[in-house]
Amino acid sequence: MITAEPVSSYPHLLSPLTIAGMTLPNRMVMGAMHTRIETLDRPHERLAAFYARRAQGEIGLMLTGGYAPSPEGVLDESGLYLDSEAQLPAHLPITSAVNDAGARVVLQILHAGRYARVADCVAPSAVRARINPYVPRALETEEVWALIARYVRTAELAQMAGYAGVEIMGSEGYLINEFTSEITNRRDDIFGGDFEGRIRLPVEILRHIRQRLGPDFMLVYRISAIDLMEGGMTGAQVATLAQRVAAAGADLINTGIGWHESRVPTIAASVPRAAWVAAIRNVKQAVSVPVMASNRINRPAVAEALLANGAADLVSMARPLLADPDFAKKVRLGRVQEIAPCIACNQACLDPIFTGGTASCLVNPRAGHEIEFASGRAAVAKRLAVVGAGPAGMAFAIGAAERGHRVTLYEATSQLGGQLNLARQVPGKGEFNGLLRYFAVMLEKRGVTVHLDTAPGAVALKAQGYDAIIVATGIVPRTPDIPGVDHARVVSYVDVLSGRSVPGNTVAILGAGGIGFDVAEFLLGDPAESRDIAAFQAAWGIAAHRDAPGGLVAPRDGAAPARAVTLFQRKDAALGRSLGKTTGWILTSRLKARGLAMVSGAHYERIDDQGLHYRVAGQSHVLDADDIVLCTGQLAARSLADALRDTGLPCHVIGGADRAEQLDAVRAIDQGMRLAMTL
Ligand code: NAP
Ligand code: SF4
Repeated sequence: MITAEPVSSYPHLLSPLTIAGMTLPNRMVMGAMHTRIETLDRPHERLAAFYARRAQGEIGLMLTGGYAPSPEGVLDESGLYLDSEAQLPAHLPITSAVNDAGARVVLQILHAGRYARVADCVAPSAVRARINPYVPRALETEEVWALIARYVRTAELAQMAGYAGVEIMGSEGYLINEFTSEITNRRDDIFGGDFEGRIRLPVEILRHIRQRLGPDFMLVYRISAIDLMEGGMTGAQVATLAQRVAAAGADLINTGIGWHESRVPTIAASVPRAAWVAAIRNVKQAVSVPVMASNRINRPAVAEALLANGAADLVSMARPLLADPDFAKKVRLGRVQEIAPCIACNQACLDPIFTGGTASCLVNPRAGHEIEFASGRAAVAKRLAVVGAGPAGMAFAIGAAERGHRVTLYEATSQLGGQLNLARQVPGKGEFNGLLRYFAVMLEKRGVTVHLDTAPGAVALKAQGYDAIIVATGIVPRTPDIPGVDHARVVSYVDVLSGRSVPGNTVAILGAGGIGFDVAEFLLGDPAESRDIAAFQAAWGIAAHRDAPGGLVAPRDGAAPARAVTLFQRKDAALGRSLGKTTGWILTSRLKARGLAMVSGAHYERIDDQGLHYRVAGQSHVLDADDIVLCTGQLAARSLADALRDTGLPCHVIGGADRAEQLDAVRAIDQGMRLAMTL
């Protein structure tokens, strides 16, 4: 049962604020995102459309993805930098599109330092990052002064391009953060040695930019509010740095959480909403300039509470504005139930960035593809039937109804959502509840007729005279060919996640894809850790006081797991390789800490009264498991699609019914929405 989100008012979020002489209409800011949109065709047009769409959604201030002040500071070989007037034509479409829409855009200057995946990367000292194969070269003192001049030049170019200001990226473990931390700054010159020396670089950058560009150019500094690195800055040092950068000219201090190589999750769905409020408040209490909160702020009520409690003056949201570019407008209009929620999955935004793709959004496939999706109504309104109310079917139904079609949605079970109803049972996946709520709201708003507990056959559909049928009947779990697979100890992941079967004390999970890991988390995970900030802090060793270096203390020893769980796969490879690039490590490290046993290279011999018989490297074993849970992939549920083929009715098959392999909600929603744009 999904409950409605409480309706509230948002006086703090909607109040204007003047910074550097510019009055922002509200306190909602779009945080910097590295989208890699620039690697697609028609990059300037795409970027302009991407930013303009968010400006039209009433975000008053936006920060661009990072541009390096010099070529060796780029994120990777295809990374962006701004150091000459010849590059300005790439920026003018962005600034004019945003300025024309009445918003303001600030260019982020990001020097990646030792995170730059380029052979000639530089850093304060020659200390390699564990996430980069390249050892950085330590900058000479005069090179640091020259780099400061390059920051000023980039800021000057940003002003020429029409940006309202620049954000100096001083967090996440990039170059400036590397200077401010003892971990990476081993220098003994003026830019190292003691704390004052280590923080000299950001202070001088801000001072020089302010001197050159005057008071009407917005200067934002993104501070590392908590390093989440052993030996990192204490909260007291962070507060002092905030004061120094404000005195050097920062108009606004934005907050960043953790370094990219931290072993603590910072933005994933397993992090409670507004989890970093204490670190943000620490900065806020130190300075009189406005402070911006960031990370895991995805709903208006969360943002409003942060401002109302005095923890910050503005909120930076990045992924939530991929999910819904109209976030701010819907807050102003009191239509928060219609805000498509970011579920913090990283599946379509951050994960693709690390695998050569571009950022979009699971919930909103239009993000980053604004110029590809037609808007407006269809030329001819049709009567369409959609069978299956999983993510593909619901996304299609909403999209098609938006274009003026009359849509009827049939669902065989008593609830909307399909596989999303299983996902939302998993600890750390509670955000799926919001996604289901959103789909339900939008189906109603768009006037889609919904029939639950109804599974019409081909004949019944034909009799209704629909213009086309959209088959979104999803998948059926695969039953592997193992002798004894019909034994009473064998259950499907559907039985476990839906609560129909409650496993005993010893469990074997066969199949270590996303669903196998979900079941392991369901059986071993602690739901409180993703909902309750104190439980999250205890589990990951985040200090409750501000004297701990890096904000870290020893993690709490978790309670003994309720059961013994072993996860199996046939492949002879490390388990978890198919999990999300940016989230898989979180799941595997927590599950290992909770005693999950993992077996790869398993050959399943049989299942009988003794349990699971299997062989690894020629050795036979028996696991006396109370329950053997099948998570061995899926097959397309195509019987309706096959039956419709003989009726002559126009029929489109989407989601798992179309292709079950590697199906996820990203593909299902994208396919549903794209089809809706073509009919
Ligand atoms: P999957 O990733 O294809 O995993 C299926 C597992 O079953 C594999 O480990 C496979 O590996 C095993 N398997 C396949 N055929 C088998 C057979 N005949 N007998 C025994 N084992 C067999 O699929 P899934 O776990 O069902 O997940 C479905 C989709 O949902 C995936 O695309 C996944 O990405 C997505 N999903 C994602 C997440 C997430 O966190 N991002 C969470 C849940 C689901 P071996 O053959 O090596 O054993
Ligand atoms: Fe949020 Fe997931 Fe969309 Fe990324 S893909 S913006 S994490 S909902």
